[in-house]
Amino acid sequence: MAALVYRVPPDGKLELATIDPKGNGKLDRASAETELEALTSEIDELQELLYGAGTHSLLVIVQGIDTSGKDGTVRKVFNKVSPLGSYVHSFKVPTEEELGHDFLWRVHRVTPQRGMIGIFNRSHYEDVLVVRVHNLVPETVWRKRYRMINDFEHLLAASNTIILKFFLHISKEEQAERLLAREKETSKAWKLSAGDWREREHWEDYMAAYTEALERCSTAYAPWIIVPADRKWYRNYAVAKTVVETLRPYKDDWLAYLGKVGEQRLAELRAYRGEGVTG
Ligand code: AMP
Ligand code: MG
Repeated sequence: MAALVYRVPPDGKLELATIDPKGNGKLDRASAETELEALTSEIDELQELLYGAGTHSLLVIVQGIDTSGKDGTVRKVFNKVSPLGSYVHSFKVPTEEELGHDFLWRVHRVTPQRGMIGIFNRSHYEDVLVVRVHNLVPETVWRKRYRMINDFEHLLAASNTIILKFFLHISKEEQAERLLAREKETSKAWKLSAGDWREREHWEDYMAAYTEALERCSTAYAPWIIVPADRKWYRNYAVAKTVVETLRPYKDDWLAYLGKVGEQRLAELRAYRGEGVTG
């Protein structure tokens, strides 16, 4: 079977153009949608264990060019997880206060604490993407950031944060269709901005910036995962499946830990009751 997603190898070269945004893993839509239901339920179960055990956190980063489906992916993949144990943070144009700090300041303060799932809609990668494409800081400044990002993510991983970074890979033609669809549907028009068409003119620059970011910042502890995203049903399925496959190996440990904590609590309760009766 064709690979579901493309994991960027650490230290590898990446040819984005060789990865088909229309890829569907030889799956048909109906079975992908049925499986998605099971996968999102499993994400919910795994999240409960992650929350209960409180030993790890999960950070999911979603990146992609305008209209690549970042919002939709978050909505469809995490629609069953408890709001008590998860949150989404969308990164916008930095405020004056944020710009007055190092570029990771606003990011570090919203990373998920143990037990939580934190989802980033855009992220610190904007600081080597939009910032690079529009020369918002000199190259000597943004070029140092790849290394800083790797060190930062290493710190998070060493503190028991499980990290997944998804790049939603759409074709330029698909983007045109989605932008035009937004114009035609009033319910979607709120997402429109003339800026999106302007950004499209920088398509090649964005692809070059993404390529370098993915090449330099895909690591064993925080891999970049390229998701063919022209077909929304496939994108959702592939992201959900990757999340489940990443968390599943922790399940036994979390269950064992929860079992131990449970026994300890019961023993404490028994001791308390014992004392209550005899004393
Ligand atoms: P949206 O995701 O459509 O709400 O738009 C958010 C906007 O914020 C996008 O145009 C991003 O390029 C922009 N943005 C996010 N992070 C940064 C950053 N670090 N520097 C400059 N622009 C950013
Ligand atoms: Mg936008």
